Amino acid sequence: MAVNELSPDELARYARQLGPGVLSPKGQLRLKNSAALVTRTGGMGGPAALSLVTAGVGRVIVAHGGPMISPDLNRQILGCEQLVGGPRMPAFAEYLRTMNRFVAVEGIDHEPDDQEALELVRRVDVVLSCAPTFDERYRLNRAAVAAGVPLIDAAQWGISGTLVAVDPGRTACLECVYPEEPEFEKDFPVVGAISSAIGALAALEAIKILSGTGRPMFGRLWMIDAYQGISSIVELQRRADCPCCGAARAATTTS
Ligand SMILES: [Zn+2]
Repeated sequence: MAVNELSPDELARYARQLGPGVLSPKGQLRLKNSAALVTRTGGMGGPAALSLVTAGVGRVIVAHGGPMISPDLNRQILGCEQLVGGPRMPAFAEYLRTMNRFVAVEGIDHEPDDQEALELVRRVDVVLSCAPTFDERYRLNRAAVAAGVPLIDAAQWGISGTLVAVDPGRTACLECVYPEEPEFEKDFPVVGAISSAIGALAALEAIKILSGTGRPMFGRLWMIDAYQGISSIVELQRRADCPCCGAARAATTTS
């Protein structure tokens, strides 16, 4: 249920992020009354979820299945040595809860299928897609477009990463950007510092969108090539023939 004001304890907690150039008290209250979905919660999604929780997003739903393995620990900062060989959830969710008692954290111990993804997306105000496979990224994109919920797609490779922010029906969706599924490399190389950087930037976009702060990255692709020390931004165009958000799809769904 929506609250009308933040408690003195909450205002004290968020004191360093309230003021000119950061969040307004109204924006902080909007965060409190918002919900976000983060899937998955690994190298990028873990730091993303952590940033959302510490910023004060009222409800954070995190999804990630499977056991932790040793190579995960170069980037999955919600984990620890003791978790190797065991399931990530509910330990990840429990850790997030220890970071902010004013936030509700919901842990889901598997990757949602099409139906569950849509149900989850309908419960939140923003989706952070931090999944490694295009299958999952397309699934979250389709669910976000169908539900009309903003999506931030985060991706990483090596020591580079990309962000795409989608405002459904208004700006290019992920399938407009990648009409064909690019080849996927299982166990691709990645350095944890870029995972954390891209995850934190995805969370920052979500915080901006939810709180009404600054200018969201909607309709733009942000490429950060840390290997070469280059950052670039590409203005995106919607594709009329996009099977996810294009005119043909809209005509089919309304007829
Ligand atoms: Zn599209």
